[in-house]
Amino acid sequence: MTLIVSFITRFEVFSIGYIMNYTKQCSICQEVFPATTEFFHKDNRGKYGVKARCKECHNRKNRQHNKLYYQQNRNKILNRQILHNQSPERKLKKAEYDKKYRKDNAEHIKQRTAKYYQNNKAVITANLVKRKTRRSDQTPNYANVDLMNRIYKECPDGYHVDHMTPLAAGGLHHESNLCYLPAEVNLSKGTKTIDEFGQEQFSQQVIYWQDVLTCCDNSFTESA
Ligand SMILES: [Zn+2]
Repeated sequence: MTLIVSFITRFEVFSIGYIMNYTKQCSICQEVFPATTEFFHKDNRGKYGVKARCKECHNRKNRQHNKLYYQQNRNKILNRQILHNQSPERKLKKAEYDKKYRKDNAEHIKQRTAKYYQNNKAVITANLVKRKTRRSDQTPNYANVDLMNRIYKECPDGYHVDHMTPLAAGGLHHESNLCYLPAEVNLSKGTKTIDEFGQEQFSQQVIYWQDVLTCCDNSFTESA
């Protein structure tokens, strides 16, 4: 009998528990369930062809493990994602997808944004004021405001204007502190300085406005 059972569990698509009405105790929560794939993940090596822990316990353990792995490897994972998203095919695909999504869900997005604003009005306004204040506090009087406006206005598609030394880290709102980073890189850099973010990663992604803006203004070379 054991031989037959082990033979069947090894090759049967469903666990033997379905046919024999076997039950199995979860090795973690100790609850008893039918030894079927409804309650246990399949495992040819396990008794009755299913795992020792029930599905719920297994999935919970997995989630804990993934969470821990993410916490311990956050930068590695994010950097890998960023690099992956940087490939030209990937960028094009995403741009097409985003465009279609915005078009298909215009009304939904509008409502969601309005609702989010309504629910978070105070925080949003406070943050905006804080950022504006910080920005103007940290704009030196020798900054070239017209040039900075152009830098923002002519930011390439998919890019954000980045403060190389973030305002939050005491950087200046001055043209010499501005550069372009791909939007997702800028978001992941956040309030980190270039050193904190990673010099190499930064230089791979950065575009300098000095290379983008073509013009005639002499202040370019001075501020570069
Ligand atoms: Zn369990």
